[in-house]
Amino acid sequence: MMKKVYIIISAYNEEENIHVLYSSLQNELSAIKFTDYELVFVNDGSKDKTLDFLLELQKTDDKITIINQSKNFGHELAMTAGLNYVGNTNTMSDFSIIFMDADMQHPPKLAAEMITQWLNGKKLILTKRIENQDTGMKYRLMGNFYYWILNVLSDVRIPRNMPDFRLLDKKYVLWMNGLNETDRMFRGMLSLIGLRDAYILEFEAPKRNAGRSKYNFLNLYKLAIDSVIQFSIKPLRIATFMGFLGCFLSFLFLCTSIYISHIRHEPKTGFLTLLSVSTFFSSLTILFLGIIGEYIGRIHIEVKNRPLYFNEIIKNED
Ligand code: UDP
Ligand code: MG
Repeated sequence: MMKKVYIIISAYNEEENIHVLYSSLQNELSAIKFTDYELVFVNDGSKDKTLDFLLELQKTDDKITIINQSKNFGHELAMTAGLNYVGNTNTMSDFSIIFMDADMQHPPKLAAEMITQWLNGKKLILTKRIENQDTGMKYRLMGNFYYWILNVLSDVRIPRNMPDFRLLDKKYVLWMNGLNETDRMFRGMLSLIGLRDAYILEFEAPKRNAGRSKYNFLNLYKLAIDSVIQFSIKPLRIATFMGFLGCFLSFLFLCTSIYISHIRHEPKTGFLTLLSVSTFFSSLTILFLGIIGEYIGRIHIEVKNRPLYFNEIIKNED
C-alpha cells in the first residue's frame, strides 16, 4: 500500500510567499518516489490575497487541500486544524505529517530530507536551528527571555531553537490528536509525549522570504506565560511556599515587637517598618491572587469545551 505524507503549511498574510514556496516544494518533492503526498494549506484568516492564490493553485494541482479558518486563530490552532484534519479523516495505514511555515524559513529541501528519513524508518523528526550572525539581536534577546521564563518555571523541558518544523509519523499524529486541551502549545505537548526517539536535523534558518514576522515581544511574553501555566503548577507551589514564609516572617515580627515593648520596655516606634511590612504582604497577596486567577481563568475556558476553531475544508472537485 502507498505511503502518504501530509505537508501542513500555516499561512497568515503570506501572499508574497505562496507561489515561491509552492514551486520550491514542487521541485523538491518531484524527486521523491515511494510515497504520495498532499499539500494542506491552512489559511489562518489572512486579510490579503493568500486564499485567492491558494484557490488558483488548487485548480491546477489536485494534491492541494485548503483548510480555511473562519478568522485568524493563531499559528498553534492552524497547526491543530491541520493535525485534526489528517488525524480524523485519514484511513491510510501508513502516513506522516510535516509541519512547516509558509515564509521559506523552513527550507523545502529539508522537508524532502525528512521524507527520505521517514521512508528509512524514522518516526519523529525534529529540526534544530543553527544560529548565525543574521539572527538579529532583538530576536536573540526575545528568544533568551522566552526560554528563560519557560525553563525556570515550567516542568516540561522545551529545547531551544527547535522551530515548528517537524515530521510526525502516524503514531505521533494519533497521540497528539488525542490531546484535547484548549490552551495549546505544540512543543510542550510533544515533549509531554516524549522526545526520546526523536531524530534531529540541523539547519541554518534563512531570513523570511517576504512579509513580516507575526511575533513580537508581547506575543512571546504571552506565549511564555501560557506555556508555563499549561504545563506546570510550579507558580502555585511557589505561592504556597511564599505564603508559609510570609506567615513565619510575620510571626517573627510579632515576637520581636512583643520582646521590645514588653520585655525591654523600650518605647514603641517603627511606623515605617510597619508600613513596609504591610505593603510587602499586600503586594504578595495581590501577586499570588493573580497567579491563582490565571489558573482559574484557564479552568473557566477549559470547562466550556468549545470547538477550538471553525473552518471548512476545500478539496479539489474533480
Ligand atoms: N502564522 C499563522 N497564524 C498566525 C501567525 C502566523 O498561521 O496568526 C503562520 C505564518 O504565516 C508563518 C508561520 O505561522 O507561516 C510562522 O509565523 P512567523 O513567520 O510570523 O513567525 P516567526 O518565523 O517570525 O517565528
Ligand atoms: Mg517566519
